[in-house]
Amino acid sequence: MAHDHDVLIIGGGPAGLTAGIFTARAGLDTVIVNDGEPLLRRNGHLENYPGFPGGVNSRLLLDMMADQAKRSGCSRQEARIVDLEQASGGFRASTAEDSTVTAQFVVAATKNTVDFLSDIEGLKIRSRGKDFVESDDRGRTGVEGLYAAGRLAMQPYQTIIVAGHGGSVGVAVVEDSDVNFYHDWTAPEGYFTGRGRDVPPGCEEISPEERRDREAESLEVMQTYFANPHPEEPTQHPNVRGKD
Ligand SMILES: Cc1cc2nc3c(=O)[nH]c(=O)nc-3n(C[C@H](O)[C@H](O)[C@H](O)COP(=O)(O)OP(=O)(O)OC[C@H]3O[C@@H](n4cnc5c(N)ncnc54)[C@H](O)[C@@H]3O)c2cc1C
Repeated sequence: MAHDHDVLIIGGGPAGLTAGIFTARAGLDTVIVNDGEPLLRRNGHLENYPGFPGGVNSRLLLDMMADQAKRSGCSRQEARIVDLEQASGGFRASTAEDSTVTAQFVVAATKNTVDFLSDIEGLKIRSRGKDFVESDDRGRTGVEGLYAAGRLAMQPYQTIIVAGHGGSVGVAVVEDSDVNFYHDWTAPEGYFTGRGRDVPPGCEEISPEERRDREAESLEVMQTYFANPHPEEPTQHPNVRGKD
């Protein structure tokens, strides 16, 4: 039976968004379903994410990651997944609003939320005060087609690490799918073909003109993002908010 999507990513924090960037760029139809706020919205100022020597507003970084996932081809729904079950060689997820989403592959990237996974036989949950999903280092859970990414997969609690893990899990999904894939690389013209090689699947070579066009666009896009301070304040811890 055909699924609604190739890949369903549950959770739109740094891990889920980065997984989606890789699966969508590889041509897999990817939907990200998120409910609530990624934890990084609580951060004061993000100073350990490589590439930003002066630090970066974490809410801006999340906006940029979400935009990049969209630009890579991900669709997105704001909904809470309340149940996941295996169905027709894939998975059927139910939302709190009683709609369903089906997909061949599922990446769970929900930090410590595991209640929706209770119907998945064979999945190992580890509780250490908070709940985590056991998986190998590429996020494979032992249940075919189901992956865990980021903090949920017991990764260290830093943004770059959960984002990188999300990317690694996204590439694992691509490798486990039917997509013909080598690397997600953009190389300058001639890098492969200049050595008599075909451009490998998943890679592209771009001409100097195309490279200049892309750089010009990236400068424009980044100047827009960084033109003004981000309008939103950090989200406070719920226990502190409760004291207002
Ligand atoms: C106050 C604070 C400051 C921090 N500062 C730093 C810092 O300076 N540097 C640093 O590296 N890291 C920092 N972090 C840590 C960083 O925020 C986390 O490492 C990171 O957010 C974890 O990413 P994730 O994608 O695994 O989970 P999350 O970002 O939490 O994303 C999970 C998403 O899934 C959604 N979700 C959950 N259940 C469901 C469901 N059933 N259906 C649909 N969606 C669901 C959640 O609402 C959320 O949007 C900080 C964290 C906090 C709290």
